[in-house]
Amino acid sequence: MSQGPGAGGPVGRRAVFLDRDGVINEDSGFVTRPEDFVFRPGAIESLAEIQRLGYLLIVVTNQSGIGRRLYTDEDYARVTQHMLAQLASSGVRMDGVYHCPHSPDDGCSCRKPAPGLIQKAAQEHQIDLGRSWLVGDKQIDIAAADRAGIRKTLLIRSPYPVDPTGAKPLFVGDSLAAIMPPLRREVEAGDPA
Ligand SMILES: [Mg+2]
Ligand SMILES: [Zn+2]
Repeated sequence: MSQGPGAGGPVGRRAVFLDRDGVINEDSGFVTRPEDFVFRPGAIESLAEIQRLGYLLIVVTNQSGIGRRLYTDEDYARVTQHMLAQLASSGVRMDGVYHCPHSPDDGCSCRKPAPGLIQKAAQEHQIDLGRSWLVGDKQIDIAAADRAGIRKTLLIRSPYPVDPTGAKPLFVGDSLAAIMPPLRREVEAGDPA
């Protein structure tokens, strides 16, 4: 599937799509309460710099604990508000937060590796996926990016298994900070924001 504006069409905005658990905060299983939400070291600083470089910040997160009835929509909303408030106090403004509340059995089109969350965000924010990035800590994040037409991907090393025959990231690193060198190069090369 190809994405992005057609020839001669308006140039969309560029974004960094971010998985949440294991990228922004520590992945401690299901994060159900604000006090369980712990930012990964350096994550806020990286988000601030990504924003300064002119990229939209868009969270795309699977939250099947809602569909599994382990926590509620309201629990999830409280955690999200906490995350946004903490980020705002550091001058970081998320442009969008999208989540899939379904369980794997629901067969929805938004649970990663399905590309639904990314596609919805791209429509709502006029994002050019061909100029955008995605950062995740599971192979399903990279697969969702692939299926949405995002080629620039960073896989953060994690305990989750990687299938060598599955979707391959462009970069592998230890944290969100690993995106900064290629992002700075791209901006210095003059790709307009
Ligand atoms: Mg994750
Ligand atoms: Zn879903």
